[in-house]
Amino acid sequence: MDVVRTPLIAGNWKMNLDHLQAIAFVQKLAWSLKDHDYSADKVEVAVFPPFTDLRSVQTLIAADKLPLHLGAQDLSPHDSGAHTGDISGAFLAQLNCQYVIIGHSERRADHHEADELVAAKTLAAVKHGLIPVVCVGETAEDRDTHGAAKIPVEQLRVVLEAISQDSDYVIAYEPVWAIGSGTPATADEAEEVCAVLRDTIANSHGQERAESTRILYGGSVKSGNIAGFMKRPNVDGALVGGASLDVDEFSAIVRFPDHVTLD
Ligand code: PEP
Repeated sequence: MDVVRTPLIAGNWKMNLDHLQAIAFVQKLAWSLKDHDYSADKVEVAVFPPFTDLRSVQTLIAADKLPLHLGAQDLSPHDSGAHTGDISGAFLAQLNCQYVIIGHSERRADHHEADELVAAKTLAAVKHGLIPVVCVGETAEDRDTHGAAKIPVEQLRVVLEAISQDSDYVIAYEPVWAIGSGTPATADEAEEVCAVLRDTIANSHGQERAESTRILYGGSVKSGNIAGFMKRPNVDGALVGGASLDVDEFSAIVRFPDHVTLD
């Protein structure tokens, strides 16, 4: 029997919107989705605000019973203690975060996060009951030297070795050259790498886990190109940066089943 993977559209706000702006944004997003008869059964939506917004957004989601999931953009590999500025997965779980982004290319670049640290953070997320959204992807130079899949597969393998095969996780394939560039991968390019990543999961964690794991594409996703990605069998959603900060645009991305675009 084929496994049904509910698509996930995840909005990575990066370092944008303070907690007051976040409240206004989430209210508008919820109205937009409601106006368009959004059904959470068909597509799951998650927002990933900065840490300082999480409590406000959590309270709003709970009070108004909004059909939105909450995630953080990073976490510490440690549970608690002398780690100034870090945030424990335990704290995120207390805030009803279901997801946490790990290993985003901006953190790998800005904070020199190596694969081993990404693996340790993924383990910490799983330990605290959070679903890690593990980002992997190649730079333009990597792609020109090795082809698109080699580096993402290597990054993924280190993570898979660190966690058990019954852990729940999401993978985000994000070619670094596509992030914030306005030049997305083509749907065929995304599909090709996502298929290899699924094979990598099957080899490490078994076929069943590979079939049930959602693999997202990220990198300059917009309402005009999302349908093309979502038509591909190994793309199960999108990690959206810039376009997740525009209510109408993000709402239209979430509603991809209703609009088919020309690739
Ligand atoms: C991201 O930050 O994960 C991302 C994909 O950004 P953008 O959609 O702006 O390319």
